[in-house]
Amino acid sequence: MNSPFCADRIASANIMVVGCGALGNEVLKNLALMGAGHVWAVDFDRVETGNLSRSVLFRKEDALEGRFKVEVAAERLRGMNPTIEVTPVRGDIAFDVGLGLIRKMDVVIGCVDNRWARYCINRLCMRAGVPWVDGGISYLEGTVRVFIPGKNCYACQLGPEGLKDLARRMPCSGIIRRDEQAGKAPTSSIIASVTGAVQVQEALKLLHPELLESGELTSLCGRMFCFEGEHMTTKVVSLAAYDDDCPVHDRWEPVRPTEVTAETTVQEALEVLKKELGASKITIHPGDCFVDRVIRKDGDASLEVMLPGRNVAERLGKEPEWRGIPFSGLYQHEYREIDDSFPYRSLTLGQLGIPEKEVLLVSTGSGEEYIEMK
Ligand SMILES: [Zn+2]
Repeated sequence: MNSPFCADRIASANIMVVGCGALGNEVLKNLALMGAGHVWAVDFDRVETGNLSRSVLFRKEDALEGRFKVEVAAERLRGMNPTIEVTPVRGDIAFDVGLGLIRKMDVVIGCVDNRWARYCINRLCMRAGVPWVDGGISYLEGTVRVFIPGKNCYACQLGPEGLKDLARRMPCSGIIRRDEQAGKAPTSSIIASVTGAVQVQEALKLLHPELLESGELTSLCGRMFCFEGEHMTTKVVSLAAYDDDCPVHDRWEPVRPTEVTAETTVQEALEVLKKELGASKITIHPGDCFVDRVIRKDGDASLEVMLPGRNVAERLGKEPEWRGIPFSGLYQHEYREIDDSFPYRSLTLGQLGIPEKEVLLVSTGSGEEYIEMK
């Protein structure tokens, strides 16, 4: 039997892979071999020697040179398939990938190792109306799930308790990332191969909606594939129903374009957006807060930081007098909204932590608008 997949469809699709660890390596490799033409790879980490035993795309010298995973992965994929176009995106899916970029994708493949990152991928994909394929690995176990906007959603499966826990941790905290990383389960190349292969197969199916509709192919959407290598069992289980009250899977539309970019200053952005929207007063609601200073709760000492909330913890780590203080002993002075009262007008939107091609949530006197940056 021939492959049911159409080569032209795979070559012309836009596919994003989030996470370039053991699983991401396998997924990227399979995409290159299957003839994917346009791939975006997202990761913030550098290659380390510990990655080499389970990452087909990385070499010892990459670790010694401390190269970024996305850069190395892009180079190796081009070596495997000279016609592939790979765009490395160095950053954190929580804040550094604009919704406008996600909107260009046909499918997103999540190869991350924690709940917070999955939550962030899901939120972006649901807002953009793009399906995504989640993979998870630990020890000899692998799982794959498919989420299609309007049909099912990762956040709905978390349940009220899981959501509450995430919501509590969401605002402005670089600490989240570290906590989640601390509990990482050991993985191997074997389970990454099995799981990554199923993920790519499911992602390619999503590029052929007519075959899913006719029944020639069946998507995993609404179910979870579980592979358990220890006793060699596989099962496919149904996932909980879609919750109409879930606030996380709201689609952001309609989206209007703007001339504003990440290089535009706050002053200029406010002026341009007012003109474009025909409003005398507007408020931009960025995804992350902006912190101008941090104050100790046990005294008057304060430190100017001028950074997006996500970068504050790292900045404090570089200050000998601030390093050891627990977050609970600090108060951060932050801005969650950008309007005419925002004092640092000469900063660019990028300096506030707003990524390129972001879709801004802007409120005017008459409601809210979704505005896609150039
Ligand atoms: Zn939901």
